[in-house]
Amino acid sequence: MSNFNIQSILRENIKNLTPYSSARHEYTGSASVFLDANENPYGSALKQNYNRYPDPFQEKLKTALSKIKGVPPYNTFIGNGSDEAIDILIRAFCRPGVDNIMVFPPTYGMYEVSANINDVEIKKVNLTPQYQLDLDSIADTIDQNTKIIFLCSPNNPTGNSIFREDIEIVLNNFNGIVVVDEAYINYSRQKSFIQELTEYGNLVVLQTLSKAWGLAGLRIGIAFASQEIIDIFNRIKPPYNVNQASQQLALDALTNIDQINQWIRETIDERSLLVKNLLKFDFIEHVYPSDANFILVRTNNPLKIYQHLNQMGIIVRDRSKVSLCEGCLRITIGTPEENNRLLEVLKEFK
Ligand SMILES: *Cc1c(COP(=O)(O)O)cnc(C)c1O
Repeated sequence: MSNFNIQSILRENIKNLTPYSSARHEYTGSASVFLDANENPYGSALKQNYNRYPDPFQEKLKTALSKIKGVPPYNTFIGNGSDEAIDILIRAFCRPGVDNIMVFPPTYGMYEVSANINDVEIKKVNLTPQYQLDLDSIADTIDQNTKIIFLCSPNNPTGNSIFREDIEIVLNNFNGIVVVDEAYINYSRQKSFIQELTEYGNLVVLQTLSKAWGLAGLRIGIAFASQEIIDIFNRIKPPYNVNQASQQLALDALTNIDQINQWIRETIDERSLLVKNLLKFDFIEHVYPSDANFILVRTNNPLKIYQHLNQMGIIVRDRSKVSLCEGCLRITIGTPEENNRLLEVLKEFK
């Protein structure tokens, strides 16, 4: 990997931070009387009790995840959604008003929002018209204060994967953190980068239980990285960042991997079918190839189509004002019934 160490780009205040040490963190034995955390000892007035603080490091969930992903728990951070991981990365490595991050529009909006909240500058290098990395412009735009590069693959809202060799070039040449956001990796023909963690000490792979795993409401995001980077996450995160109900329910869901894989296959089949059927409409100009559970569709009249769908109770995402997505709507792949309904309603569009 590139020639720098993580500590050299860590903010001084984080390096010197004494993390909050919670009651549940300090005690690791097997006592039966817990009078250390000011909890209500009686219970919760619910069928299930939530009166105890949750495991701050989500050990059970990480162990279950590691069996599925093949990444050890110590290379795993679990956050209150991936959005928490994005925010922690920016706060760990970017000095407000001094450092910058790099993003490649059109892409996921949270990198920019999180940087703005933290008063961190955003350097933007547009993707090429084929929605790939413009490596020359990236090299020209990086400066000594660029600390994190956010790459999204498969990319939202375009749906395509970024060329693996290009990501490797960035990983090998950039002296900072490279985040590969793989929120949609379960739907992709491409391999995940999680197998490359041992190769690249500056790599952070983001995944989530919000999409293929069907748990958006629980808010479980995952960052895979070197132990050194995971330790930094753990120092900064709020002590109880993932609540008890979410930890337990996610653990239950992880035992149903066959169901998830079946839904993934069905979504991928529906994706092909929807593409084929959408291309029959003359107002659909192009459907971009997708490695995700959505498709980006270029139309000759995005606003009218959006409004027509909306009036008929179908909500899609209007991306037509996003640069490089002119004319485009982003459509999530629904159930077969939902996709048929979409096609029926589109037939009525004039
Ligand atoms: C949906 C999505 C996420 C998931 O965010 P969570 O906070 O984990 O729900 C992350 N990145 C991208 C690109 C997404 O589209």
